[in-house]
Amino acid sequence: MEITTLQCQGYEKVVRCRDQASGLHALIAVHDTTLGPALGGMRMLPYTSEDEALFDVLRLSEGMTYKSACAETGLGGGKSVIIGDPKMKTPELLKAMGRFVDSLGGKYITAEDMNIGISDLETVKTQTRWVTGLSREVGSSGNPSPYTAQGVLVGLRAVLEEGFKTNSFAGKHVLIQGVGAVGGRLAVLLKEQGAKVTICDINEARVDELAAKHGFGKIADARHLEVECDIYAPCARGATLNDQTLSKLRCKAIGGAANNQLLELRHGDELKKRGILYAPDFVINAGGIINVSVELLPGGYNEAVSLKKIENIYTNLKKVFEIARRDNVSTHEAALRLARERLAAGKKRVGV
Ligand code: NAD
Repeated sequence: MEITTLQCQGYEKVVRCRDQASGLHALIAVHDTTLGPALGGMRMLPYTSEDEALFDVLRLSEGMTYKSACAETGLGGGKSVIIGDPKMKTPELLKAMGRFVDSLGGKYITAEDMNIGISDLETVKTQTRWVTGLSREVGSSGNPSPYTAQGVLVGLRAVLEEGFKTNSFAGKHVLIQGVGAVGGRLAVLLKEQGAKVTICDINEARVDELAAKHGFGKIADARHLEVECDIYAPCARGATLNDQTLSKLRCKAIGGAANNQLLELRHGDELKKRGILYAPDFVINAGGIINVSVELLPGGYNEAVSLKKIENIYTNLKKVFEIARRDNVSTHEAALRLARERLAAGKKRVGV
């Protein structure tokens, strides 16, 4: 196994692993550990080049630093990528990845991400203790999705107060794109709170099933932007807020689980100009990382502690909205400022 350090400005450590025996070609980026060890998921994708993979891992690890700083998880930001077709995943490859993670001695802690599931992590775990998000049966925090959904719900309360001057979901119309693990749960939680919920997904069978079971409204995914609603909750994929979609939006506010919703930062400014209140994705979707972070606390995983911490998403969004007003910037920029303020305070505390 050959591990090489790559020099990347602004990152604490970026390493490449090539392992002939298992065929592993992977990168780990540790962006910042001021606030704690760098936690972030492991993904496997058929990147067309190492440069493409490096771009992804750098961008994602930096994002994790800001997400954790805002959520006050006591963690830093990191990420890992395995370069290759997920169909070629073998136990040998995952074990080699485990040794690669272990080589950082806990500076980087891994978790699930695209094409890496719990059973894969169990294999990784045979080689390193620096793995989170395994099943409850082994004392880990389990599936993060319900906690991410709960966090979005909590965050939307701050959105209601800021944008609608109310703290009640009663009668508010919420459109959810993507009713998978997070969006599906969020839809149920919102309905319980009295919201009118309309759902869409490219998986139409899932939409039909959930709509029939819970009484949600439904719309074909291709037409979802035509729906006039109070809150639009993107819970499917990233980059859905872009030049093509912004002029079509018929909502007053946006808050959902999907990562990297803004295609570019300027789309956050555009939402501000249009008077649409945007709850920055990395603040409102932090429930999952908060839940995972609890398993690293001295007492180990405790759901009650996790749910209490997830409540802070409300306060964090209130702060974001306050900074946006104070500095007359987009809410996305305000969230970055909050994250940087917390990082700077952390650096001061540890004397960096
Ligand atoms: P999931 O795969 O369970 O669900 C995603 C759903 O979106 C699926 O039902 C899928 O059919 C649908 N979808 C995919 N592409 C679509 C498209 N183009 N148009 C409409 N629907 C589409 O994923 P999830 O765990 O529910 O996560 C949803 C989003 O939230 C993802 O962007 C994920 O990165 C993000 N996120 C998830 C968590 C978590 O804890 N699971 C945490 C933070 C962020």
